[in-house]
Amino acid sequence: MSDLRDLYQQVILDHNRKPRNFRTMEDADRSAEGHNPLCGDRVTVYVRMNGDVIEDVSFQGEGCAISTASASLMTQGLKGKTARDAEELFEAFRAMVTGGEPASEKLGKLAVFGGVCEFPLRVKCATLAWHTLHAALEEKSGTVTTE
Ligand code: ZN
Repeated sequence: MSDLRDLYQQVILDHNRKPRNFRTMEDADRSAEGHNPLCGDRVTVYVRMNGDVIEDVSFQGEGCAISTASASLMTQGLKGKTARDAEELFEAFRAMVTGGEPASEKLGKLAVFGGVCEFPLRVKCATLAWHTLHAALEEKSGTVTTE
């Protein structure tokens, strides 16, 4: 079990050091900003849709390792998925980090955040990008806050 934890930590540290899809998207057709005042994490999520399919997704921002790695892994798993798939992933992710539910298979690599449920303050860091994505998909304006 501790080997598994080390592996999970490696994945999170790697995505924090080299975040994937970390860029402003000039031709995004949706974007939203998120803020987690408890930790100071800020993220902007950009989405370009093709019909109901997420053609491209990226993010920008500044935050702790958990929030950056979570946004990075989230964007990696979303390309080619429908908005509805994305919402289902968000639900599964949230159930895992808030309720300690076992990671469902569809979460894939996102399972590395399973341990976050033991650290309630970190849950907001891990879900910030997802709340922000949700707002972008719903085309809500303004800043999403975890408070
Ligand atoms: Zn944070």
